[in-house]
Amino acid sequence: MQITKSKTAFDEAKKVIPGGVDSPVRAFKSVGGTPLFIEKGEGAYIYDIDGNRYVDFVQSWGPLIHGHCDEDIQDAVIDAVKKGLSFGAPTTVETELAKEICEMFDSIEKIRFVSSGTEAVMSAIRLARGYTNKDDIVKFEGCYHGHSDSLLVQAGSGAATFGTPSSPGVPADFTKHTLLAKYNDIQSVKKCFENSQDIACVIIEPIAGNMGLVPAEEEFLEELRELCDKNGALLIFDEVMSGFRAHLKGAQGLIKTKPDIVTFGKVIGGGMPVGAFGARKDIMDKLSPDGPVYQAGTLSGNPVAMNAGLASLAKLKKNPTIYDKLEMLAKRLTDGLKEAAKQNDIPLQTCVRGSMFGFFFNDKEVKNFDDALKSDTKMFAKFHSKMLENGVYLACSQFETGFICTKMDEKLIDDVVKTAEKVFKEIS
Ligand SMILES: *Cc1c(COP(=O)(O)O)cnc(C)c1O
Repeated sequence: MQITKSKTAFDEAKKVIPGGVDSPVRAFKSVGGTPLFIEKGEGAYIYDIDGNRYVDFVQSWGPLIHGHCDEDIQDAVIDAVKKGLSFGAPTTVETELAKEICEMFDSIEKIRFVSSGTEAVMSAIRLARGYTNKDDIVKFEGCYHGHSDSLLVQAGSGAATFGTPSSPGVPADFTKHTLLAKYNDIQSVKKCFENSQDIACVIIEPIAGNMGLVPAEEEFLEELRELCDKNGALLIFDEVMSGFRAHLKGAQGLIKTKPDIVTFGKVIGGGMPVGAFGARKDIMDKLSPDGPVYQAGTLSGNPVAMNAGLASLAKLKKNPTIYDKLEMLAKRLTDGLKEAAKQNDIPLQTCVRGSMFGFFFNDKEVKNFDDALKSDTKMFAKFHSKMLENGVYLACSQFETGFICTKMDEKLIDDVVKTAEKVFKEIS
């Protein structure tokens, strides 16, 4: 496989863009090699600028549940573009999309649109603080909530200690209000509540997708709900990834626990930059202009992006069995990978939630970030690069989630499994 054009393009990009990329994971640092520069997509496939074709399990990191160049979404975008790109004034399509989502989620009576997941979560946190008049927040090791200052606190520090920033440029003063807890470990959350009477909210990915795929246990979420209620804190579900991916209603379609605030991104924009956060009326009414909590955006609710999101969600809603099919394909893939790995004595843990799938090169089940970190990342890097050489584009890190799209079928999955069988033999 030739990737000379991608290599040249990467060298050129590095001269004028830090690391050659506009988002760090794209640089392939954790697996080595050259990131591919993409020319175009088509259904389940992407093509690089050297003309190689790949089955795409990244799908722009989640948004493209209908695959590339879906005609209905393209038509919706083109129609909108012809009427103008942006007005900075209300359009009816915002209300339409808002209605769709409020109808879908019991936990949401009002919603506001922004332009990214980062912005959605950052605003949700401000709203929770404004609503409760408290400053501290609890987040979990290994959960990613975008790159805003107070959320750039990760693993490393023990549970229930005040977080230290994980990036230079974030003052420790900004993260001293962020308490860290351990995923699926309710004791660690109890400790946070013992250490602070000032907790505004607990934020969690109810199906974690940013440490690999690690779902929260139902009982754990129930206990979180109780702890929040008992202490007057809000529970935020970050469904930027799991929303419309794990199920039409995200994690909330699969579990009983109800959050106070929900954040969205990725699929909600159908491939365009959209984020959103929603909650009950009494919480959302604290937002400016009705309430005192300020939040704004020049391109928020952009009509082109709203039309893409609406078209994407309409297709999902019209076809409720779609998630069964996506989950069946995801299971077929992970079962195939697991069997192929086993035949070569490679331990592999797999997990599926709707169209989301994950696999760890790990001999134990992964329930939290510490477990995930014990995975064999060298083995992952070898697997990733060989699969890529054989036309399969997987996320370039052991700690990411893979995605199935509606343009995939059993034949495509079986071919990928065959490729994996060959690759496992080579790397074992
Ligand atoms: C991707 C992601 C974000 C950040 O969204 P951006 O659109 O990249 O800013 C936040 N939370 C979760 C759970 C995500 O997966």
